Amino acid sequence: MIEVVNPATEEVLERLEPASREEVDAAVERAREAFPVWRDLPPADRARLLRRLAEALDDEREALARIESENVGKPIASARAEMQMVVDTFDYYAGAPERLLGETIPVAGGVDVTFREPLGVVGLIVPWNFPLQIASWKVAPALAAGNTVVLKPAELTPLTALRLERLAREAGLPEGVLNVVVGPGEVAGARLVEHPAVAKIAFTGSTEVGKKIMAAAAGTIKRVTLELGGKSASLVFADADLKRAAAAAPMAVFDNAGQDCCARSRILVERSVFEEFMSLLEPAVKSLRVGDPRDEATQMGPLISASHRERVASYVSGDAPVAIRGEAPDGRGFWYPPTVLAPLSNEDRAAREEIFGPVAVVIPFDDEAEAVRLANDTIYGLSGSIWTRDVARALRVARRVETGTLSVNSNTSVRVATPFGGFKQSGIGRELGPHALDHYTEVKNVFVATEEG
Ligand code: NAD
Repeated sequence: MIEVVNPATEEVLERLEPASREEVDAAVERAREAFPVWRDLPPADRARLLRRLAEALDDEREALARIESENVGKPIASARAEMQMVVDTFDYYAGAPERLLGETIPVAGGVDVTFREPLGVVGLIVPWNFPLQIASWKVAPALAAGNTVVLKPAELTPLTALRLERLAREAGLPEGVLNVVVGPGEVAGARLVEHPAVAKIAFTGSTEVGKKIMAAAAGTIKRVTLELGGKSASLVFADADLKRAAAAAPMAVFDNAGQDCCARSRILVERSVFEEFMSLLEPAVKSLRVGDPRDEATQMGPLISASHRERVASYVSGDAPVAIRGEAPDGRGFWYPPTVLAPLSNEDRAAREEIFGPVAVVIPFDDEAEAVRLANDTIYGLSGSIWTRDVARALRVARRVETGTLSVNSNTSVRVATPFGGFKQSGIGRELGPHALDHYTEVKNVFVATEEG
């Protein structure tokens, strides 16, 4: 049985039967049967059903936020913001069915047009850190483009995905269009990846599992998009508004207890202001409110599991230079205090590997060239920030840093209308914005002869 646990209390919330390979096959079959029905609906009707689903999600927003907060241990305020994004994502892609435009191409002897065709059944595999939010980034564009879906949530956090499946049915989406299977990755996820009737896998999770998925998908030449790990850098230049940069830095790492692929877990600071930055960072870290996720004022909750906490703690053992340590509750729950290691070298293990917990490292640099070199000295390339008052420098550095998304004097990464995804081993493809639709459609070219010969 799958035990769904509240990581703040260790209490079991639900026990679920894991899906077998045969149950995954049955879900794929339902999606296959539903595909022609969904594909052939007039675009305006598909749009209307997606809008209705967005409304249903909006109506259940508070209940969904509470489930997500309990199951992931995330602060209720964060869970609410995520549910808002879920609603906005379905709203946004409800506009897509009627705007999936092809092209006409001038050629000799006839008329040449392209169509954007759906792929068929798509398999969506998502992680436990932002369960419904990341699912919505995949489900909404996939359905808008006319595909049918089998969604596999992480086994630790399946509850909101199951609600989504129910809400889709109640909103009137035809039977079989959106199917959810709950089960372990090595069984249910792996079966989706190898299934010959699944046209594409969209995956968010670790780089390690992403590699396995890409290799297994090769067997059937499946389309694959991957959103993987990160080790993003925040570059703080001496001319920056240091107070603002230091005040914003803790939540850029410790939000969701650091279990965020976009976490700016490497803070690179110009050496001439290193001490000043550290003295501003300390009160910002120490004043973080870590505790009961149900409390409206809480900013950070526990980690997802005991084994994950052990992994996170392994980066702070031995002679790790702990410069700042915040508070965390004792007792039940998988708590870990916000921790800053400094000064570190980019060669240190804590600076190279994705910790996926509330541990930040601070690394000094001497000039712009070194800052860029350090930022890029990683296998990842997902996100990042640049803090400076010099506009030319901000844009110069932004063009040089090898990541899919960057923000200047801000730590935001995802917006419904803009593309999100990784360079290097952080992934393949883009989610959100109009770009996501490219990954849920094939381009078909049709030539119609208007001249003889
Ligand atoms: P994970 O890779 O362990 O699991 C992700 C999903 O894949 C789960 O649903 C799991 O059941 C499934 N899975 C596991 N093994 C599988 C297999 N062999 N075949 C098919 N499916 C399999 O990741 P996680 O621990 O749930 O999440 C943390 C990771 O996700 C971090 O590395 C983080 O950076 C990454 N992440 C990336 C993004 C992004 O957008 N780039 C967003 C969130 C999380």
